[in-house]
Amino acid sequence: MTVTATSNLASFFGSSPEDVKELFSSWGHKPYRAKQIAEWYFGKRFFSLDQMSDLPAALRAQLQEQFSWNFPDIVSSLDSPDGATKLLLKSDKNQMIETVILRYENRTALCVSSQVGCKLSCAFCQTGKLGFFRNLTTAEIIGQFALAETIVQKEGRTITNVVFMGMGEPLDNFDPVVKAVKILISPDGFGLSHRKVTVSTSGLADKIRLLSEQTRVALAISLHACRDELRNELMPINRRFPLAVLKEAIQHYQRVTDTKITFEYIPIKDKNLGLREAKELVQFLQGIPCKVNLIPFNSHPGLPFERPSPEAIDQFQRYMLDRGFVTTVRYSKGGDVSAACGQLAAKDSTNLDQIPRRKSVIGG
Ligand code: SAH
Ligand code: SF4
Repeated sequence: MTVTATSNLASFFGSSPEDVKELFSSWGHKPYRAKQIAEWYFGKRFFSLDQMSDLPAALRAQLQEQFSWNFPDIVSSLDSPDGATKLLLKSDKNQMIETVILRYENRTALCVSSQVGCKLSCAFCQTGKLGFFRNLTTAEIIGQFALAETIVQKEGRTITNVVFMGMGEPLDNFDPVVKAVKILISPDGFGLSHRKVTVSTSGLADKIRLLSEQTRVALAISLHACRDELRNELMPINRRFPLAVLKEAIQHYQRVTDTKITFEYIPIKDKNLGLREAKELVQFLQGIPCKVNLIPFNSHPGLPFERPSPEAIDQFQRYMLDRGFVTTVRYSKGGDVSAACGQLAAKDSTNLDQIPRRKSVIGG
């Protein structure tokens, strides 16, 4: 288990259901005690020992002494009128990560970060511009979930979906991310449906294969171009894993896990939205049961691209629909608080002093 920045103790949030069982047996407690805490923690999603009222005081004291139960520190919380809340969290002395709560009518989704920064330098992504600082631990990933769940429970909600689409490339932090995914989807863990936890990757083909051996989680591929020359320009990772290699890995994952793949495609003006690119996309998707999400480019100062007109995006969508591909246009929630895709990881991510510390609410 991992040591948090704010405590010298291992964080309880890194625990899997198996870890809890082992811990209790190593402490010499009866197995039903492990079950009791699992019911509170994994079942009811209560993250504070005070809430676990039927645990003997001595046992609670032992858990309190041996583990950190601290949530990540909230540096700022910004609410957007469309139902998104962006939480800027302090991961270390000078490092921030972001977590976004997305509220819909029938579900509540959480977008989690997997790394501080990212190594992969995609040309359209603000996190990519930041560079890489470090991997998050399983406890820090589940810590984002615990914090957000505690917030939404007060609104009578519970988190139904988790997407690894915050800061970082999840498959570049493989073991901690896979452990977090297993804790989220295990029936003995937080019990989310494996269809409702999505790992989004820029296309680390070797890790996609490895993932198929470890778990059965929804997979989203950030595609954005289906011609190596153009994808190399937008996503340098394509030089290491060109499209043909990526496609083989995706098909392998699809076969082994029998899950539908989601492809994310950012329409970028004058880059990847022409008839040529649409044909290339159709060609690439042949033989992969999938759906396509078009995420209109979110612009930032310093990025050399622009969002295309809605008509150009509609036309591209129509082309895909006419060829039988389920294709949606997904305008990101939270754009006004920089919580939308690719806007996480604000410029000030490594400088605490530039970040507002008070809770500020936009649009109430
Ligand atoms: N590293 C992973 C997950 C984090 S990025 C990945 O690349 O898939 C989450 C999503 O945001 C990805 O689909 C990414 O391509 C998209 N994204 C990045 N920058 C964006 C931007 N400026 N506008 C819209 N989407 C963006
Ligand atoms: Fe990293 Fe994903 Fe951004 Fe690319 S799009 S730089 S992989 S976070």
